[in-house]
Amino acid sequence: MTEPSRFLVCAPLGVEARALRRGLGEAAEVRRTGYGRARAAHQADRLRGEAFGKLAIAGVGGGLVPDLRLGDLVVASEVRGSEAAEPARCPSAPLLAGELRRAGLPARAAAIVTVDRVIAARGERERRAAGGAVAVDMESADLLAGAAGRPAIVLRAVSDTPEHSLLSPRTVPGGLAALRSLRLAGPALARWAAACGPRRVLLAGPRSFCAGVDRAIEIVERVLEQRGSPVYVRKQIVHNTHVVTDLERRGAIFVDELDEVPDGATVVFSAHGVSPTVRAAAAERGLDAIDATCPLVAKVHVEARRFAAEGYQVALIGHAGHEEVEGTLGEAPEAMTLIENADDVTRLRPDDPQKVAYLMQTTLSADEAGGIVDELLSRFPGARGPGSDDICYATTNRQLAVRGIAAESDVVLVAGSANSSNSRRLVETALRAGTPAYLIDGPEDIELGWLAGASAVGITAGASAPPAVVGQIIDALSGLGPVEVSERVVATESIRFGLPKELRI
Ligand code: SF4
Repeated sequence: MTEPSRFLVCAPLGVEARALRRGLGEAAEVRRTGYGRARAAHQADRLRGEAFGKLAIAGVGGGLVPDLRLGDLVVASEVRGSEAAEPARCPSAPLLAGELRRAGLPARAAAIVTVDRVIAARGERERRAAGGAVAVDMESADLLAGAAGRPAIVLRAVSDTPEHSLLSPRTVPGGLAALRSLRLAGPALARWAAACGPRRVLLAGPRSFCAGVDRAIEIVERVLEQRGSPVYVRKQIVHNTHVVTDLERRGAIFVDELDEVPDGATVVFSAHGVSPTVRAAAAERGLDAIDATCPLVAKVHVEARRFAAEGYQVALIGHAGHEEVEGTLGEAPEAMTLIENADDVTRLRPDDPQKVAYLMQTTLSADEAGGIVDELLSRFPGARGPGSDDICYATTNRQLAVRGIAAESDVVLVAGSANSSNSRRLVETALRAGTPAYLIDGPEDIELGWLAGASAVGITAGASAPPAVVGQIIDALSGLGPVEVSERVVATESIRFGLPKELRI
């Protein structure tokens, strides 16, 4: 028999149990389980036969790495009990660590190792840290076995570190700092428990990388391969922190402007495109410039030049400050006006109302842009539009797909960075469908309150977000209870764009 709502918290020591009771109030049943592995193993036998729905193991622990400070919190991503045994994974660790950080507590998700005896010597800490663990305790691996497949989390507050060992006079302040952190972690632990439960995950298809992003990333990779690092990239190659961090690690240097690029260096222009002024400045300085502008953005540039050459006043529908918009406006600055909303249309004063044309940023919301075009056509019935849609296939498909899953979901999570236009439009599309929706860079950004009572979670990813992030989100949710994953595919994509000729070898 199970009691899904019963939340049991195991704390080895009496002082730890008291701190946790104060922090958790009525949200959990806190049990003192005793010090050391033998007592923990005994308690685990008892836990296996007990009816509870979710388990937390919490207490103080030792820090193994120098950047941990007294009172820091470590949420175990995995717990290692012995060198021979497989570590026990706790997939929801990033969710609790993120929740603790948002509460202002210093927390990280990382591996913890359970040992047989107190570790005080620095050398022993270093040996354990070399195995990948950042903190140590004497109970978690054994107690965790008592969860027997139910959602479980391990939280340790650091009471001693390599700098302040258990034998130092700092032991008392370290212990107090750790107990204070445990108490303050109580509300976040309660939210973790409230978010536990079985759920369905609905994946939007298509999602994640589009052909333009794939090509831009491959261009930087090829340039690194062929020319070696460093390779300069003007602006973020695509708007995603994971992509940028990964390429930085491999030797790319991201800069805001060309004056940060040394003479003679290689510079890549991002997928969002650049204005002719930037190209000219690079040529003038003799930079080895390689263009990763998405061909679908380049198509809008061509249309802008064509309309301007034919004497049209061109309304560019888009968002001020976005790099793509800046690049497109730069194609014919004297002939173009940025239109962000229907009000801007009323302010448009073309020299010749018969010669108005409009273009769009490629990553707009189709609904929003459609309303602006209607307004424009009602003021200028003869206004000419692009030959084919400027909002690209990838944006359109991802918006259709998220609308589909939003209808079936209690909440929608959109993987993407805050500066990603197409990812933000996916959030807006889900919201317009009446479903709460949130933009997240990864699982650590998910607020546990969003998941409480949400038995169907929709997931998609913006065109610049790596597919692996979606896997990480599903993995984190699986730590809160059984997850049944299905996909709703509204379109299949086979578009590929070729590389610039100078890289095709
Ligand atoms: S979202 Fe569209 S325009 Fe932007 S890079 Fe991808 S395919 Fe190109």
